[in-house]
Amino acid sequence: MMIKMMLFIDGTWLYSNTPRLAGSYGKGDFQVDFGRLPRVLAEEVSRQLGPVEVDVVRTYLFGSFASNCDARDDEAVKRRLDFFSLLKEEYHYELEIFPINFRGRRLRRADRDPKDPFEPKEKCVDIALATSMLYFAAIPYTYDVAIAVIGDQDFKPVLQHVRRLGKRVAIASIRESCTPEFADPRDEARVKDFDIIWLDDLLHRLELKYERHQLECQSPTHGGERKVWTTFYPRKGQKFFCDVCRTEFVQQKQEAPAELASSPSALVPPLDLNGETPAGQELSGVVKKKMADRGYGFIQAEDGRDYFFHCTDVQTELAFEEIQEGLHVKFSIKQAPGSDKAGAAQNVRRHEA
Ligand SMILES: [Zn+2]
Repeated sequence: MMIKMMLFIDGTWLYSNTPRLAGSYGKGDFQVDFGRLPRVLAEEVSRQLGPVEVDVVRTYLFGSFASNCDARDDEAVKRRLDFFSLLKEEYHYELEIFPINFRGRRLRRADRDPKDPFEPKEKCVDIALATSMLYFAAIPYTYDVAIAVIGDQDFKPVLQHVRRLGKRVAIASIRESCTPEFADPRDEARVKDFDIIWLDDLLHRLELKYERHQLECQSPTHGGERKVWTTFYPRKGQKFFCDVCRTEFVQQKQEAPAELASSPSALVPPLDLNGETPAGQELSGVVKKKMADRGYGFIQAEDGRDYFFHCTDVQTELAFEEIQEGLHVKFSIKQAPGSDKAGAAQNVRRHEA
């Protein structure tokens, strides 16, 4: 049997209580890994259900962002919006986010005039969560179990109504930020079908280990939008390639020998049959063939042999796109050629005459 789950996250509540989680985890910079959160919670519910297959059909997050604030806080607002687009694009969350009008003021209360009575008011977030939960509960076959990541008592009526519609409800919350009615093991308020799931107890599984950020893939064969989300931080001078391209590179490198078969001079024996052409040795040569669409090419080297090079073997100062057949290059040997096989080049760079 397959149990369908839908997740409803009160994002505003979760962010504002993340410092509490960080405190109990003993790590000030603790962040929730939103990529993992749905899976971890589904596993917790399925543990209580017994051995069943579970499927998180959708994850909804409800939250807000500052609009019309002081320009000095633009960066902070942008980071929040970037975070939302990460949730949407990378983790396939459904988002309902609402602007809070700051009327030109600073975001943090500490940065505002203490005499200013302005109080940022969040609009619609709780109601939007309750509406969605109820809406999907009323449509047949959308979900069996609603997992609500919440703490506020305001949600009590919606939890009760969803249960009256025949759906099961699980609550995931934070010990210090949860209304006692939700935490009550006897469940006198009749709001849940499972033992409450404490995020406090799952922190080792929920911790964000690597911050995701956007980088442009530098592969010449990359297809589509170049900006992709990654956890990779390239060192200075190192190129970044996305996961899709990396997988493709393996294939490209396997394809290369077939391409070489149509390139007869690759079979020219080494000039000095007794001499070794050790890996690491520097050679110069001329690019004799370039398969631009496949991201690799061949160099005919001064030793008379052919050397395969992949776009990832080209040094950062020389873009693969700039390489033309006939270009003079220098390189070091990654793999020495065999008696009937081309070698492989690395650190390919322009040979300045
Ligand atoms: Zn790519």
